[in-house]
Amino acid sequence: MKVFHSDVHALHQPRMFLKAGQLVPNPETAARAHAIVHALGGAGFELVAPTYQGLDAVLAVHDAGLVRFLETGYQAWARLPNAGAEIVANTHPGGRFRHRPESVIGQAGFYTQDAACPIAAGTWQAALAAAGCAADAALAVMGGAASAYALCRPPGHHATRSQVGGFCYLNNAAVAAQLLRSQFERVAILDVDVHHGNGTQDIFYDRSDVFFASIHGDPDGFYPFFSGTPAECGEGEGLGFNLNLPFPVGSGDAEVMRALASALAAVRSYAPQALVLSLGFDAHEKDPHGAHRVSTAGFMAMAQAISELGLPCVAVQEGGYLHEELGSLARDFLRVLSGHC
Ligand SMILES: [Zn+2]
Repeated sequence: MKVFHSDVHALHQPRMFLKAGQLVPNPETAARAHAIVHALGGAGFELVAPTYQGLDAVLAVHDAGLVRFLETGYQAWARLPNAGAEIVANTHPGGRFRHRPESVIGQAGFYTQDAACPIAAGTWQAALAAAGCAADAALAVMGGAASAYALCRPPGHHATRSQVGGFCYLNNAAVAAQLLRSQFERVAILDVDVHHGNGTQDIFYDRSDVFFASIHGDPDGFYPFFSGTPAECGEGEGLGFNLNLPFPVGSGDAEVMRALASALAAVRSYAPQALVLSLGFDAHEKDPHGAHRVSTAGFMAMAQAISELGLPCVAVQEGGYLHEELGSLARDFLRVLSGHC
């Protein structure tokens, strides 16, 4: 199984993170990726740097204004008198009016959902390299590989078409799915990160050619709060092609496997020709950020059940925060997944 990974991710070192009104260290650290790289490299996985440099795959799923803001916003921000070290919004549009301002302070609010996505000098390069990993993994599967893994950092599934959010800047899974669509008529995205993949849902909500299924902690009590309910089924052409399966916050193996079984049944009945797996490890019982109780054995059962779909599979790294088992968890999950998938 090829693993696409770029060292450029380390240029992105977000600091700002607000948790229940407290400023705390941002848990989306470079050490997360280092732990996974270390475990995979020692286990015979083939690590490959991405070669895909084009912006076209990103612009196929994102608003051009957002992409321009990510690319150039920090330079404008750094010229502000007394600017902080990172772009963090202090105001967002509300109500019915959404004027896009020229001011970088205003644009920071216009293009961000929350305060979890600080932007500094290396953020754009890292986000673009992560999207490149997802693109190359999709191209590998389009070239005949049974599966490929994109070790994306920063992650992507909270990034909507026009807004960053939840540590995510560019939607790597959406980039992969859109590329796969040029070869496969029907593509499914299965999101097993513990948080709802609100950005991916946003991007494909009105489409029937990409089916989106997400299992996640109930948004009544869990980020991203404003989406992820079973009532969100898609709209227009996409009606019936979006499936949310929340489980109670704090759930363990049984509840998560039950939701996954329902998601897999729905994927099977959609009959896709390729799968994108939005792979978060933050439902693990040792995750410092995820608040759920899935065991390592539970993750292996998830990998086995997903592999039994027998579909060409692009696995894209989403959440999963640093603890002593993160690297081995990723390694063992991918071993099981690639055995069949
Ligand atoms: Zn997550």
